[in-house]
Amino acid sequence: MKQIIGVYGASGFGRQIMPLVKTQYPHLGISCFVFIDDNSESIELNGHKVLTYDEFLQHPSSNKEATIAIANSQIRELLSNRLVADNIKNITVSSKTVIVLDDDTVEISEGSILCSHVCLKVNIKIGRFFHANTYSYISHDCIIGDYVTFGPRVSCNGNIHIHDHAYIGTGAVIKQGTPDKPLIIGKGAIVGMGAVVTKDVPAGAIVVGNPARLLSK
Ligand code: UDP
Repeated sequence: MKQIIGVYGASGFGRQIMPLVKTQYPHLGISCFVFIDDNSESIELNGHKVLTYDEFLQHPSSNKEATIAIANSQIRELLSNRLVADNIKNITVSSKTVIVLDDDTVEISEGSILCSHVCLKVNIKIGRFFHANTYSYISHDCIIGDYVTFGPRVSCNGNIHIHDHAYIGTGAVIKQGTPDKPLIIGKGAIVGMGAVVTKDVPAGAIVVGNPARLLSK
């Protein structure tokens, strides 16, 4: 077998990502797609082999690629660095239903996963290993850092800067900033499910509710 594609993470998110990956490689048979998981009790999942990372490395295929379908951004950073060190290409996964309004002004770095119905509008810069779950959108003039994670239905309006490792929960709404004062979500901040964020969130903070308030730091 020449080519093998690994979906790292054989849990909930990984199982959702596998069908997207398969549609990106219509010429490959089912046996070319495997899950990679270091803790799985299964050897097979949804018709795919589950390999540990070491087993994936030892696989005889000469062309190995992978995506890291793990929501925890710290783990994502650790594993992505390991893949780079082992010369395994990190693929970008994008559902066929993703809408990028302007390819010329939307910049997406390597390793991202864009789930179904994600919409990226204009003048957006996105860092490495970004995850956007179903129905999330990013409006105009936004900067998204590395290892940022969006749950489903995140509404990221215009002029918002989200720093590295921030996690935005399902259905959160972030109020638009202005060109001279973008709304900032700090590094590693967590925005709770359904929160309505109306002002900057400090690095490392957790905010919840409507309007979003600090839970702890
Ligand atoms: N995992 C792994 N290697 C690691 C860390 C995590 O294989 O170094 C796997 C872990 O065994 C689990 C998956 O990654 O199966 C993460 O799944 P989880 O349910 O925590 O979250 P999800 O990202 O699916 O929401």
